[in-house]
Amino acid sequence: MPRSDERAFPDPVTAGRDVDVIVVGGGPAGSATATFLAQGGLRVAVVERESFPRFRVGESLIPTCMQILERMGVLERVLGHGFQVKYGAAFHDQETGESTMFDFRPGRPWPSYTLDVHRAEFDQILLEHAAAQPGVTVCQPATVEAVTFDGDGVRARIRDGAGAQELRAACLVDASGRDCFLTTRQGRRRPRRGTGKVALYAYYRGGRRFPGREEGHVRIYYFPEGWFWYIPLARDETSVGCVLHQRTVKARPGDLEALFAEMIERCHAVRDNLRGAERVTELYSAANFAYTVDPMAGDRFVCVGDAGGFVDPIFSPGVFLALQSAELAAQAICRGVRAGRLGARQFRGYERAIRRGTRHFDRFIESFYDRAFVDVFLRPRNKFKMVDAVTGVLAGGSFGLLSPTLRLALWGFFHVVRITRWVRRRQGIVLESRLDW
Ligand SMILES: Cc1cc2nc3c(=O)[nH]c(=O)nc-3n(C[C@H](O)[C@H](O)[C@H](O)COP(=O)(O)OP(=O)(O)OC[C@H]3O[C@@H](n4cnc5c(N)ncnc54)[C@H](O)[C@@H]3O)c2cc1C
Repeated sequence: MPRSDERAFPDPVTAGRDVDVIVVGGGPAGSATATFLAQGGLRVAVVERESFPRFRVGESLIPTCMQILERMGVLERVLGHGFQVKYGAAFHDQETGESTMFDFRPGRPWPSYTLDVHRAEFDQILLEHAAAQPGVTVCQPATVEAVTFDGDGVRARIRDGAGAQELRAACLVDASGRDCFLTTRQGRRRPRRGTGKVALYAYYRGGRRFPGREEGHVRIYYFPEGWFWYIPLARDETSVGCVLHQRTVKARPGDLEALFAEMIERCHAVRDNLRGAERVTELYSAANFAYTVDPMAGDRFVCVGDAGGFVDPIFSPGVFLALQSAELAAQAICRGVRAGRLGARQFRGYERAIRRGTRHFDRFIESFYDRAFVDVFLRPRNKFKMVDAVTGVLAGGSFGLLSPTLRLALWGFFHVVRITRWVRRRQGIVLESRLDW
């Protein structure tokens, strides 16, 4: 891509526009989109509703995030900030007592480490980095209230403390997160199978840390009512959250505080880890969070990050998908501006790439609620590189980085899951899906 000082595009101002692209939202998806667009020589306005730093859930990153941060030119700053370093993940099933631990292995196309981040700080670094790019303006706090598209561009009404103003651009990127700004106005948002989940979460200080390289491992604990995440952060803080079926929440009288306390008591590992720890944030909740959106892109618009769809957070793909979709969307927009074509056809390749890349995560996530899968997953054997294939997907290799050998190994892994399910059924063991928890 040409750098901004050798602008290869018609000037937006002479074309009757204020900027080339308006980005709604300054979370990781919005900041990354703006950064990549600026690297491609475009002028961008990012509009972010909230003042930063602001709390956000989603602290556990996966290794491929590091490579995208490097391409954004912000990796060094992120690494220098002092976030918790992480080398793997650990899973434990309270019902069976089985546990397993995965390390991100060296010698792969992605790094063997990543970070667990305080999102308030991480998101601020990314937005400041975007603002420092030539051609990027950040309007904050300011809200995009309405947009209208025509054959020639898009007009957005933006409101900040001083009142409302209009911005005109060639194209709009929706990076508004789970608000799904565009889809709620002109598209369709469908719940994914097995949704109807509720997450309750808070930060603790003084929770149990694990020795050495395992300190930063994200920990997932299955227990009878659902599952917990336990994500060690810097400054002796830990993000702790449980994911429950809505039925479990509705069946319990009392408030969410009492429910969260009860779930901690019922999940023994979390209860033990938090003995003596103090809670340092309020209790947050999110419900019905997994969905697809349609369309993901169209004439003069592209949805990125959570605004383009949301998968269950069990394997921590959210921030990676936000960054990866941002990069792919920016490439498609730069090509489109250069060719003078910003219609829906221009973004079909983008949409295909996102759906294809997300498919592996989808499969793992759906399988995570399947007991036959968990049986195999918690007792992994690296026969035919199956563990390598699994860690490859969990590290974020699903966007074209998995070698044919690892893809074959992944197929083998799911074949073993199918056989396990069949054997269990023959033994008369009912493997009901935990999707209905
Ligand atoms: C329970 C739960 C646990 C999770 N755990 C993880 C995890 O461990 N790891 C992980 O990687 N991901 C996790 N995620 C997912 C992660 O939080 C998201 O995928 C990630 O934040 C997506 O980034 P984004 O930039 O798309 O959206 P966001 O981070 O939500 O940013 C969107 C921004 O848009 C702004 N905005 C919205 N509407 C407007 C408007 N009209 N005008 C101006 N600004 C607007 C908002 O203020 C916001 O700052 C989790 C999610 C949930 C619900």
